[in-house]
Amino acid sequence: MTEVDAVIIGGGISGLSAAHSLHRKGYSVLVLERQVRTGGNAISERFGGFLMEHGPSTVNLAMPGVATLGGRLDLAGLQTGLGSGVRKRYLTKGARLAGIGLSPLAFLTSRYLSFAGRARLIAEFWQPRGAPDAEETVAEFGTRRFGAEFSDRVLDPLVAGMFAGDAAQTELGFVMPALAAMERGHGSIIRAVLRARLTGGRMPARQLSSWRDGIGTLPCALARRMGHAVRTGVTVRRVAHAPGGFRIDAGDRGAVRARAVIVAVQPHVAAQLLEPIAAPAAGECARIAAPPLAVVYLGYRRGQVAHPLDGLGYLTSGNEGRPVNGALFCSTMFAGRAPADHVAISAYIGGARAPDLARQAPRALIDMARRDFAELLGASGDPVLARVRQWPRGLPQFQRGHLRLVERLRRALGEAPGVFVTGNYLGGVSVGACADSALDTARRVRRFLGQAAQKDIARHRPQTAAGVPANPP
Ligand SMILES: Cc1cc2nc3c(=O)[nH]c(=O)nc-3n(C[C@H](O)[C@H](O)[C@H](O)COP(=O)(O)OP(=O)(O)OC[C@H]3O[C@@H](n4cnc5c(N)ncnc54)[C@H](O)[C@@H]3O)c2cc1C
Repeated sequence: MTEVDAVIIGGGISGLSAAHSLHRKGYSVLVLERQVRTGGNAISERFGGFLMEHGPSTVNLAMPGVATLGGRLDLAGLQTGLGSGVRKRYLTKGARLAGIGLSPLAFLTSRYLSFAGRARLIAEFWQPRGAPDAEETVAEFGTRRFGAEFSDRVLDPLVAGMFAGDAAQTELGFVMPALAAMERGHGSIIRAVLRARLTGGRMPARQLSSWRDGIGTLPCALARRMGHAVRTGVTVRRVAHAPGGFRIDAGDRGAVRARAVIVAVQPHVAAQLLEPIAAPAAGECARIAAPPLAVVYLGYRRGQVAHPLDGLGYLTSGNEGRPVNGALFCSTMFAGRAPADHVAISAYIGGARAPDLARQAPRALIDMARRDFAELLGASGDPVLARVRQWPRGLPQFQRGHLRLVERLRRALGEAPGVFVTGNYLGGVSVGACADSALDTARRVRRFLGQAAQKDIARHRPQTAAGVPANPP
């Protein structure tokens, strides 16, 4: 039976990042991935001159984990920033799009909100601080600080776009901790923004970027560096305690023995795999919902779309009752995403707002996107390319109490030596947050393996401890 220091179950960005961090320090690792390819959600596909992103489209390169990995993997030369055509964000207002500048203060000058809505927005400056530890949802926080109109018409679309979530259910402290911190630190979000500007500081910005061949570049590069330490097409069925660590069972693909195990799969799978080795942690994972989400990618000849597509895309409030939560103008966001004289737009359907829509047949999903693009963007005729990706469990939902859930999960794992969990439901859903969380997990695994090796040495002195990494850090 193969024996390694650590088995990593799941070859998405989280699992690969954690595995690579251990691998480069000389630990023996094995990544077991169910699919025939690595990357998990991160799938970038080139076809006929288009570059389709079926999962994540952007990465925030300001986040430390991604920056570290990019450096280790020599990805700097492959980075690509937002195209110069991105000048606005769009929000739907009835059957048309309202274009708003990219600055956070642009809502004050735009007519997207009513006069009363803008006046209430300014009044945020004088609103009292909320109760600490209130576990507010984004909608509750938004209504209390900025008024109901801003909450419904701006924050609700944002939560649907970024987290496939529902602002009325999503915990602010988990998904937008910066807003909570600004209120705590400055008493007002507007005051925090103005102070940062006056003192020449910058607000923590999301630097949206990608790589020339898409977000799939990162998992591909990670997997390439690890070579045979990554096995695809292997579904882990069960993990059990075994002498000196764990036995990881992959059915007819055999079993592996490891001193530590990192569970880097979606929360519902983590719940099953953790049950025999860390039942309380499994219980917490089982509480996390992840509704289905569909991505419809359409390519058109430029002349078929009347709209200038001069933005990131558009979002819509749940109150508007549109089937499409939002769309990205893929060929404007980054250069080289569509053939010359063509454009690409992707629509996001389902999530917490309308899970059943995401389960519809691909043809119906394409029709929904086409109707939305026809009405809002003036798209006409048949697209030259149409692709649908249905994620049966799109993104984990961070409902009220999620921060406490994560705390309980971490405490439970503290009681299960050698068992580690990493993924997008612990520190944030973005690629950057997954990388941060994975590198942190790898540090904890190294500490655990180091301590375990010390114990072995003490027990077997003067012999050399078996299984100590060839190159210990
Ligand atoms: C449609 C969509 C759009 C997104 N857009 C963005 C964006 O623009 N920017 C951004 O930063 N983030 C975005 N995200 C979020 C981000 O892509 C994900 O949070 C991140 O990629 C999750 O990575 P992960 O490794 O934690 O999980 P996953 O990618 O889910 O990987 C888990 C892996 O585990 C494997 N697995 C499951 N069960 C087993 C088993 N039993 N045995 C072995 N392997 C198993 C799976 O096959 C999978 O490969 C988006 C996500 C989606 C779905």
